[in-house]
Amino acid sequence: MARIVMKFGGTSVANLERIRNVAQRIKSEVDAGHQVAVVVSAMTGVTDQLVGYVREAAELYDAREYDAVVATGEQVTSGLLAIVLQSMGIPARSWLGWQLAIKTDGAHGAARIENIDTADMITQMIAGSVAVMAGFQGLGPDSRITTLGRGGSDTSAVALAAALKADRCDIYTDVDGIYTTDPRIVSRARKLEKITYEEMLELASVGAKVLQTRSVEVAMKEKVRVQVLSSFKHKPGTMVVDEDEIMEKELIAGVAYSRNEAKITIMNVPDHPGVSAAIFGPLSEANINVDMIVQNVAHDGKTTDLTFTLTAADLPRALDVLEKAKPLIEYETLTHDANVAKISVVGVGMRSHAGVALTMFKTLAEKSINIQVISTSEIKISVLIAAEYTELAVRALHTAYGLDAVAA
Ligand code: ASP
Ligand code: MG
Repeated sequence: MARIVMKFGGTSVANLERIRNVAQRIKSEVDAGHQVAVVVSAMTGVTDQLVGYVREAAELYDAREYDAVVATGEQVTSGLLAIVLQSMGIPARSWLGWQLAIKTDGAHGAARIENIDTADMITQMIAGSVAVMAGFQGLGPDSRITTLGRGGSDTSAVALAAALKADRCDIYTDVDGIYTTDPRIVSRARKLEKITYEEMLELASVGAKVLQTRSVEVAMKEKVRVQVLSSFKHKPGTMVVDEDEIMEKELIAGVAYSRNEAKITIMNVPDHPGVSAAIFGPLSEANINVDMIVQNVAHDGKTTDLTFTLTAADLPRALDVLEKAKPLIEYETLTHDANVAKISVVGVGMRSHAGVALTMFKTLAEKSINIQVISTSEIKISVLIAAEYTELAVRALHTAYGLDAVAA
């Protein structure tokens, strides 16, 4: 007998027929003798609609009321699933964030889970009841409802699995696992049997959207065994595990891309200590995250150029901040380009193998794709290129790193 957490995303609970399908999946685990806790998302599109209502209601809204509104989607699906389970003769009850409680910090709209009190839930699970928990929500320090950021039900599930000391956390979604790259771009993308937490974390943060980044952080910290699998197909998915569990490590686990990037170049800035602080200070005060940065050496030893990237959505605000800070920074010109994409290759094998970056640069050169900015971490190399070459670059790199599936 095991204790498992099963999480179902929005497409898996999109209507009652699908909720019945989900209930069948739960029934199989219950019949196998397992203790089951379930975490659900809102039905597909519902959270978007709720966010839309809030924005329509007022341009500047109270973030606490935003959370009160957008958390409701999960309340509906948790109750409906409990009803369907009961109708099948399976004892079940729903749990909302405040009922457990799932204590979070007070960052409304992007709260972090601090503690989950699972005592009552465990008592009922031991007595044979399926616990159905509403994902995405918690209870803030001021006793107000909080939400965990878009995609946050993944984090609810992983945090619950950690709190319950569950043997496994199965994340059911509309894809059947983690792929070496986006199968919509590369038809020969392969499903990975296993991937390390670190790789998954890097992939999630550079654009692979299967799991919320925060959920992977929690899984890695708490050592929760996560499986990503399809709620529509009956076959194993991808296990996200510790590095020692993977015997045959691949050099590269995956190629990811993000088109939501923008680039800003500041030209002819006086090259003296404090200039980077003068530029990035005001940006950080405005809550704008900067990603890749390059600074060039000055020709004349007096001025320099600086290029950095950020999320495209932040571009207008960043330009505004930098225009205002012009007298302070004393730059000459400011240019920007939102027509860029970031392509990343990720793999723990990079740590022990030289030449991984070179393969990337050569491959892109062969396709005449110009690299605008480069950044690296221990297990990731990212490049910024013109957005129009995104698909070409991803395909070429997927082949170059030997990731293409062999034709059956
Ligand atoms: N329903 C929330 C969202 O759409 C949370 C989730 O689905 O994970 O972001
Ligand atoms: Mg999701």
